[in-house]
Amino acid sequence: MADTNLTAILYKKDDLRLEDKKIPEPGPGQVQLCMKKVGICGSDVHFWTHGQIGDFVVKAPMILGHEASGVVSKLGQGVTSLKVGDRVAIEPGVPCGRCHYCKSGRYNLCADMKFCATPPSDGNLARFYVHDADFCYKLPDHVSFEEGALLEPLAVGVHACNRGGVGLGNKVLICGAGPIGIVNLLVARARGAAEVVITDLDQSRLDFAKTMGASAVIKVSSKDPKVTAAQVEEVLGEPADITIECSGAPPSIRTAIYATKSGGCVVLVGLGPDLIELPVVYASVREVDIRGIFRYVNCYPTALAMVASGKVNVKPLVTHRYTLEQTIEAFEAAKRGEGVKIMISCVRK
Ligand code: NAD
Ligand code: ZN
Repeated sequence: MADTNLTAILYKKDDLRLEDKKIPEPGPGQVQLCMKKVGICGSDVHFWTHGQIGDFVVKAPMILGHEASGVVSKLGQGVTSLKVGDRVAIEPGVPCGRCHYCKSGRYNLCADMKFCATPPSDGNLARFYVHDADFCYKLPDHVSFEEGALLEPLAVGVHACNRGGVGLGNKVLICGAGPIGIVNLLVARARGAAEVVITDLDQSRLDFAKTMGASAVIKVSSKDPKVTAAQVEEVLGEPADITIECSGAPPSIRTAIYATKSGGCVVLVGLGPDLIELPVVYASVREVDIRGIFRYVNCYPTALAMVASGKVNVKPLVTHRYTLEQTIEAFEAAKRGEGVKIMISCVRK
């Protein structure tokens, strides 16, 4: 039977379809990939349920998926770094390579970035997909395709902890115990943080965080961020050296500022509303740095090395598994907030 290319296409808000598409051919510098695993991210679900994220609006049908791994099935012209049969993790953003940001090593800020499943760029939730070979990372045999797909969220944790300067002996607060909070927990631990306390509204997420190495968890019950900050201080014995905010919820960002010690750093990972009221003076007179992050830059090799060496174990993040044929069911489960990471297998049954 000829190969077909079952593909998950978001036509518009609330309109996700599975369709057979033509198998794409790799252009110069690209490889064709036979897709193996694709994780569902909150942003995939948000595009499905809202049709947009900020200024990124789904105006034309778009293939979803960007947390992915696969096997090289064809080489485009000039590709020498990979061969057919290589197992790879796919870094989903391909920048222009020519602008100031790209040339200065901050390619995540490139205005011409083509990022899988961010309109208008297609993602890779399909049987076959083509990608620039330079942004495919060969997986050692003992690293699974699921781990390869999980390098994507893990890279967010690597970048956030880089930006926050998390290091040996630090006391770290992570706000929000979703997948992104958890990868930050794993990376902070691996970088030698002495204590990592994590907050959430949801007890089951906190219970999971505890199994993933949180030294303490705090269930946020007060609307007053100063109350939550006081709880953090009580647990750590002092305010946090570094806080990594991974919920995007305005009260939680306020807590992040109150709970961080003078001279410390708050990293804003979570993306909430555009305009948020914050205790900025309280940060500025105590020289608390507030730093944003956008995805990651040069982090895939680090994320892969951490997984391959066993320093970080991302495997428990996967709580639900579906096939490509069951994509709609998988998205329904993600929408209901089930589990931690939902993984789709693109392999034909
Ligand atoms: P998620 O929704 O699964 O997790 C967020 C968690 O925060 C949930 O468990 C929720 O219960 C918790 N939460 C909500 N309000 C809270 C509060 N007041 N205090 C403490 N916890 C609270 O999302 P995720 O996939 O883990 O992603 C987290 C955030 O990171 C999202 O906003 C996402 O858009 C953002 N993100 C940003 C980047 C970036 O490049 N900056 C990259 C990836 C994800
Ligand atoms: Zn660029």
